[in-house]
Formats: sequence, C-alpha cells, structure tokens
Amino acid sequence: MQDRKDSDSRKLLRRLKEILAAPGGGQDRLDQITHHIADSMGSQVCSIYLFRDAQTLELCATEGLRAEAVHQTRLRLGEGLVGRVARTGRHVNTADAPSEPGFRFMPETGEETFPSFLGVPIQRVGEKLGVLVVQCTDARLFSEDEVYGLEVVAMVLAEMAELGAFQGSQSDSLPLAHRFPLMIRGGTGQEGAAEGRVWLHEPRVVVTNPVGDDPESELARLHEGVARLRERVDSMVAAADMGGDGDHAAVLETYRMFAHSRGWLSRMEENIRLGLSAEAAVEKEQSAARARLEMAADPYLRDRLHDLDDLSNRLLRILTGQGSDTGAQMPDNPILVARNIGPADLLDYGRRLKGVVLEEGSVGSHAAIVARALAIPLVIHAERITTESLNGDLILVDGDQGIVHLRPEESVATAFRDKIAMQAEAQHRYADLRSLPATGTCGTTVQLYMNAGLMADLPSLEGSGAEGVGLFRTELQFLVRNHVPRRGELAGLYRHVMDRAMGKPVMFRTLDIGSDKVLPYMKPQDEPNPAMGWRAIRVGLDKRGVLRMQLQALIRAAVGRPLYVMFPFIADMSEYQDAHRILMQELSREQRLGHQMPSDIRVGAMLETPSLAFAPKKFFEMCDFISIGGNDLKQFFFAADRENERVRRRYDTMSTSFLSLLQQIIARCEDARVPLSFCGEDAGRPVEAMTFAALGIRRLSMRPASIGPVKHLIRRVSIAELRDVIAEAQAQGLTNLRRPVTEWLARH
Ligand code: PEP
Ligand code: MG
Repeated sequence: MQDRKDSDSRKLLRRLKEILAAPGGGQDRLDQITHHIADSMGSQVCSIYLFRDAQTLELCATEGLRAEAVHQTRLRLGEGLVGRVARTGRHVNTADAPSEPGFRFMPETGEETFPSFLGVPIQRVGEKLGVLVVQCTDARLFSEDEVYGLEVVAMVLAEMAELGAFQGSQSDSLPLAHRFPLMIRGGTGQEGAAEGRVWLHEPRVVVTNPVGDDPESELARLHEGVARLRERVDSMVAAADMGGDGDHAAVLETYRMFAHSRGWLSRMEENIRLGLSAEAAVEKEQSAARARLEMAADPYLRDRLHDLDDLSNRLLRILTGQGSDTGAQMPDNPILVARNIGPADLLDYGRRLKGVVLEEGSVGSHAAIVARALAIPLVIHAERITTESLNGDLILVDGDQGIVHLRPEESVATAFRDKIAMQAEAQHRYADLRSLPATGTCGTTVQLYMNAGLMADLPSLEGSGAEGVGLFRTELQFLVRNHVPRRGELAGLYRHVMDRAMGKPVMFRTLDIGSDKVLPYMKPQDEPNPAMGWRAIRVGLDKRGVLRMQLQALIRAAVGRPLYVMFPFIADMSEYQDAHRILMQELSREQRLGHQMPSDIRVGAMLETPSLAFAPKKFFEMCDFISIGGNDLKQFFFAADRENERVRRRYDTMSTSFLSLLQQIIARCEDARVPLSFCGEDAGRPVEAMTFAALGIRRLSMRPASIGPVKHLIRRVSIAELRDVIAEAQAQGLTNLRRPVTEWLARH
C-alpha cells in the first residue's frame, strides 16, 4: 500500500517534470497540471490559485470548476478557505467545506457540489506563491498521506514557478513571483535615502531539479550531505569556547542536536520517496519551518525555528554546491540585502554600498555602528526582504522613515528621487558652511565635534568641518577584528588617527565593551542585564591588563602631541580616581622606558549615569573635561532600554525632568570650571542641539552628517533668545519643551 502510494506520487511528479521540460506557454502548463493532479488524486476538482499582488489570490487554472471563472475569481489574503491557507501557510482539510468558519461561496465557480476540500500552500522558503486545492463530490476527509502527497506536489509547483515555468506569451497576465512592487516598513538604522540595485549578501539557492529520477540515489545524496553538515556543525561547536556552560553553550548544543535530529532526516527521506529530489526535500522542510516561524510568537520556539532554517540553508548549499560566491557581478549602486551581517563583513563591502537593508539587526547592532561610520542609509527589521528580493532588483531605501520600496512603481520612484535630490542640495549648502563657526546671531559660539571609531570615519573629519573628534569609540576597532589587537597594532592605529586629525583634538574613549558590544572572541557573560552589568570602566578596572595595554598604545601614539583620554561609564568618583591613577602610572612607566611623552595630557570622564551628576564637587574639579553620554544617561534616567523598540521612544529628551538634570550638570561643571560637552545621539538632532546650546553646553559631538544641519540652524538664530524662551516655558510649568522650542525655531 505504502509502495503504491509512493510510486503514484513519483509518477505524478515525473509527469510534472515532463510538463516543465516540454515547450509551451505558462497557462497551458497550468491547465495540464491541474488535469494530472485531479486524475492522480482521484478528485473531481483541482485548482491553482496564484498571487496577483501581495494581497490578492486569483484562480489561474482549474480542472472541474467552471472554466469561465479562471482569471475572474479573486480572493483577498485570509478570505475564504483558500485565503486562510495562504495566510497561515498551513493546509485546510475538511469533509464539509461550507460549515468551516470563513468559508466563502463563489457562485461563478460552481463549487457548491463539492463538499470536501483540501488546500495546501504553494510556498518556497517563506515566500507565498499561491494555493493548490483539490475537491471531491463525496463528503470525505483526505487522509494524512494524501495531504502530505499534495504538499509535495505543491513544493514542485513552487520550484516550477521559481524557474519561470508559468510565464509565457499566453499567461502574461499571470502574477509572477518577484515581479510586483512591494513596500516594507522596518525601522531606522541610519538615516539617509538611496536608490540602487539589490545585492544579496547570501544569494538564494536555486533548485533546478525539484523532481528526483531515482529515489535511491537521491537518498544517498541526502545522507552524504547530512553527514557533511553534521561534521561541520560538530567541529563548529567544538571550536567555540565551551568553557562556561551558560546559555551560549546550551544554544550551540541545541543547534547540534537539530543537525542530528532523526525526525528532520526522516521527513526529508519521506519527501524523497514521494518523488522529490534531495534539495527539494530539504526545501520542503525549510518552507514548513518558515511558515511556522511566521506564526510563532514564543521567542524560544522562534530561535529554534531559526536554527532549523539555518541548518537547511547550509545543507542546501552543500547539496547544490552553491556558495556565497556565485560569480554574479555586483550591480552599480549596490544596496546590500541580508538577513543580518557582521561588522567585519560590512566593512569589507565598505563605501561601495549605497545602502543596507537587514531583515533583523537593531539600532545598536555592530552592523548599524559600521553603517553609521560609512554614512550609508540602513533599514533594519525589514521583514521578508531576503525572500522577496532578487539580485539586481530596483530598490529604494528610506533610512529616515525606515521604509524600503522594492521594485517600486514609477510614481514612487520619481517622488523618491526628488527627496534624494533635495537632500543632495542641502548637503551642498552645508558644505559651504564647512569653514565657518557655529555662531548664533547673539554672538555665542558652539563647538561642533564629530563622533568616530573606525578608519572609515576619518575622511568625514575634513568633509564635515568638525573641529575635532569629541568621542572616539575605541571598542569599534576591537569589534571588527576576530582577535584582540596587539599593543603595537593599536598604537599604529591611534597614531594614524591623530595624523589624519592634523592637530585637531581627538578624545579617545577607553574600551566600552560589554552591554550591546560583545567582542566576537570574548566569552559572552551570562548577564540578565548587560547594559547595567560588567561593562566599560568596570571591565577596565577589573581586567587591568587590557586597560593598561590600551593606555600604553595611546601614549606611544601621541609622540609629542597632546593626548585626550576619556573614561566611559563612570558611576562613582572612586572609579575615576582609580582609572586616573592607572593612567598616571603608565605615563611614568613609558617615560622610564624612554618613550617620548605626549606634549600635554587631558583626562576626562563620561557622565552616563545619573549618580555621577550628584558626585562630590571634588570629582568635577579633578576632571579636565566631562562629556555627557546622553544615550546611556537617558536610558538610566528613564529606566528605558535604548535598544528596546517598544520603550526607547517612549520618553523624550525634551522632557522638563531630563532637561533639569542637564541643567544641574551644567551648573556643577560651571561651578567647578570644567569644560562640558554632550556626545550622545541627541547632540545631532536640531531641536535638542539648540536646546543644549541654550542651556549652556558649548561643545556638541555628533555624527558627521549632522554637523551641517545643526550649524546651519545655529547660525540663523539667537541662542540667548532661546534661553529666555526655555526659561519662560519652564516657569509656566510645562512638562515637555519640544513644542515651544520647535515653534520658536519655526518662526525663525
Ligand atoms: C552615550 O551613551 O551617549 C555614548 C555616547 O556612548 P555609547 O553610545 O557608545 O554608549
Ligand atoms: Mg554610552
């Protein structure tokens, strides 16, 4: 019985393969296919519905329903049983279709005489293409084997669609995969707009042979592929640092377990016995996992489904021999599309890229940090972008709104080009201001510095007109390597940075690792709350070797030039004192060793925790300068995770309470006569930057791209007048100053 079922299925698939190989139009093929499926399943009806656009399904071929309904009957995603199958990616099997919830009667098809209904999705690794339906006149439930068999057939149809089997003169009106325009709403990773062509970081695997000729040889190929996969995964797990037995080890172990899972393998074997090729068998399981992933809310389950997806990808690449390097030519104006990407890989692409779109990612991810350094727009959380796009597709990236337009309509593209042109014009205007000071009409000057951390940032020092680097995030150099850099390497690097700065000051912040910045070669600490955990100066003071090595490299890089060192995340005066002492010891040591000393040394602290605002006066007097790390300060002031999309926009920098904290810090710094700067992201936002200036902060450090717009604004208004506006709004008891400040700015 089992053997007969297998051989029927294989016969049907072979038939489909012949249809695929024979010349003919797409419509003709679809018609033949429905006929053969109905025949093989012993059903009176077989219909194929395909997506006309992302929301609409169209009856494209049928055996058994009225022929007039073809290309006339349409359903919305989620509408009727067919729409339900498409939306959920799961089959519907019923002996009494009309009594099913959501059943929709379509008189034009004449389907009232068919109570039993089985619909399965036609999908390919997360990409929905349509629905395949069989119906019978007798009220019966289809068996599990029949459901499974039809899913296998649907899998082959999906591959055929991918190979273009349903295109052709007669079927030009058919909806085609990867053809219709798509807008994806994600999140902002880095502002800016760009137009270009898709370049997939990991190109899709193309399965050219969905149907297997000989199950035995396909099974042998599968087993060989799985054995190689298991070997690779085992050695990957062995190579990873398994020292601690925390979450990391557990995650890798589960991954390994999946690779060795008997259930996964036997489902793929079953697919092959029913007639699929080894790679189509893998893809069928991958598609099922993707469909479940879309519906799964539980984070643990999602992670596991991701593991399965990842393993399937690896196995597919082994079976097809298709690696990342397919020999395709990178298009002009490439926009990188990836599920996720590491900082080193992104740096490798470098400034060739016009933009980046990620399916995952986060604002504080390393990829986002690199995209910022490269000043290219980045959209994150762009769901399904890797399955929907093909190499070379036209794509518009709107980093300001966090939106991507894939294969846009001409009208959208035109509007978008206007936006890019306007931005280019504005940049041109800002370039004229490059050598002018940021002085308000009242005569007050604000120094504008830039934030940096990678070599890729340095060209901006000249281009932006920054007066120096107000924050050099030294950890980024550690993040993009896969080993701890040596002292000599670091010294060379810091020297190069100072050379490029040509006498402009560079405030080197010592390593701020931990929290979101976990080094690839560091064992992840099993911390439930890394932002408040063992990070930054806490690591530096506990692991003095690394801090000392970094300080030595900085001293050696300065050779007769002034050196600025800034310690991150100081929460208590004693931490600053300890760090300062270590620096002084290293200076004496370097001097003893005969190295040339910096001409001057200035030491500062980053004020990133509310506690430091209340430190004793002595602390403020000890510092040569203080810089407010507003990103962290705000996160701890409001107790709202800066990485968490749900809460990070909930609290406003312009709230009176946060500004009052800033006012206190400003007053304490003025009292101790210590220079104060602000180097968080808010320094580059015009309304916030103007407010900080009006409250008395005289140095702002920001992304290079923000310097032009902020300077342009400062030069047009009176900072002194804004100070009065703010004082008045505060006296009135307003809880948030965004409105009065924005309105005042608009008037000027
Ligand atoms: C900050 O916290 O504001 C800051 C500038 O440091 P980072 O963003 O690197 O934590
Ligand atoms: Mg910080």
